[in-house]
Amino acid sequence: MSELHDVVLLGATGSIGRSTIEVLRRHPERFRVLGLSAARSAADLETLATELEPAFAVLADVAPEDHAPRAWRGDWRYGAAALSQAAADPRADVVVNALVGFAGLESTVSALRAGRRLALANKESLVAGGSLVVRAWREGGGEILPVDSEHSAIHQCIGDRPHAEVRRLILTASGGPFRCTPAKEFADIRAADALAHPTWDMGAKITVDSATLANKALEVIEAHLLFDIEFNDIEVVVHPTSIVHSMVEFRDGSTLAQLGKPTMETPILYALTAPERIADPGPSFDPVGASPLEFEALRHEAFPMFDLGVAAGRAGGTAPAAYSAANEVAVAAFLRDEIGFLDIARAVEDVLQGWDRGAAASVEAVVDADLEARRRAREQVGASGS
Ligand code: MG
Repeated sequence: MSELHDVVLLGATGSIGRSTIEVLRRHPERFRVLGLSAARSAADLETLATELEPAFAVLADVAPEDHAPRAWRGDWRYGAAALSQAAADPRADVVVNALVGFAGLESTVSALRAGRRLALANKESLVAGGSLVVRAWREGGGEILPVDSEHSAIHQCIGDRPHAEVRRLILTASGGPFRCTPAKEFADIRAADALAHPTWDMGAKITVDSATLANKALEVIEAHLLFDIEFNDIEVVVHPTSIVHSMVEFRDGSTLAQLGKPTMETPILYALTAPERIADPGPSFDPVGASPLEFEALRHEAFPMFDLGVAAGRAGGTAPAAYSAANEVAVAAFLRDEIGFLDIARAVEDVLQGWDRGAAASVEAVVDADLEARRRAREQVGASGS
C-alpha cells in the first residue's frame, strides 16, 4: 500500500497535459489531482475537473467576470498570480509544468522556491531563466525531474552516480521531417509540411521547433543547466526512430543508453515516481522490431537554428531568453504562413546580433529581455512577411 501523491498539473489541456492525465488515470491508487490549469479553454478544463475532482482549477488568461462555471462548481481561480500560487502549493507532492513557452517561467521559479518536486516539461522556462532558475532550485531545496524524453533518459542513466564520473552526454534527435530534404528546397517549406512530424505526436509549436532543430538547441541548454555539464561535453546525434532516448558516457569509457517506445507517458511517469518505478501496463520493448538502430551526424549547415541556439546558450545571461522569445514569435508567424521556413532563423539571428542585455538576475530582467526580443523579432518578421 503506497500513499496517495497530490499532483498539480499546469497546462492540463495541452499535449503533455493530456498525456499526463492518461498516466494519472491509470494510477488512481497512487495519484490524486490537487489542481489543474489551462490558459483559457474553460470548457475543456471544466470537463477535466468534473472527472478528476481537483481541489481547485485555474484559468490563467481569463478574468472571473468572463467565466460562468456550469458542471463543475468547485474552487475556480483566475489569472497569472493564481498560477504561480498553484505552483507553490504546499500540499503538492509534484507540480507538473506543462505550460507552453515562456509563460511557464514564473511557475517554474515559484515551484522551486517553494521546495516542490517539479516535473518539468516546459523547457523554455529553464532555458530562458537560466541561472535564475538554477538559483531558485538550489535555494528553495526543490528538485527538477525532466519530462523531456532525452533528459529523462540522461537522468535515468546517471542514476545516483556522482557528477565527476560523467564524461559526456549524447542527446539523440529524430532529425525532424526535413532530415533528408536537400537544403535548396528549404525555402519552399510551409507550416503544413513541418506539422507532418514523423515520430512524435506533439503540439504545433514544438513540432516546428523539432523541424528547425531549435528544440534540440533548447535541449542542449536544458541539459547543460540540469546536469551541470559543459557545452563542449554535450553532443547531439541524429537517430531517426527515436528508440534510444539519449546516452551518457562515463569517465571509464562505458556508455549507458535508455531505450523505449517514443511515448511521453514513460518520462512523465518516471518524473512523477522517481527513483521508484511503479508497475504500468503496456507492451514490452521489442529489440528486433526496433532494429536497426541508426545514427547519423547532424547537418549543421541546413539547420542554422541549432548552432544559433547553442551559441546563445554559451553566451549565457539573457541570450537564451532572447533566442527562445524570438523563436516563439517567428514560429507563430510561420504557423500563420506569414513567413517561410528559412525566415525563422533569419529573424532569430537578427535579434541575437549584438544582443547584450546583461545577466538573468531576476524574473523582471528575464521578462524585460523576453519583451525586447519579441519586439525586435516582430519587426524582423514583419519585414520578411511583407
Ligand atoms: Mg525532447
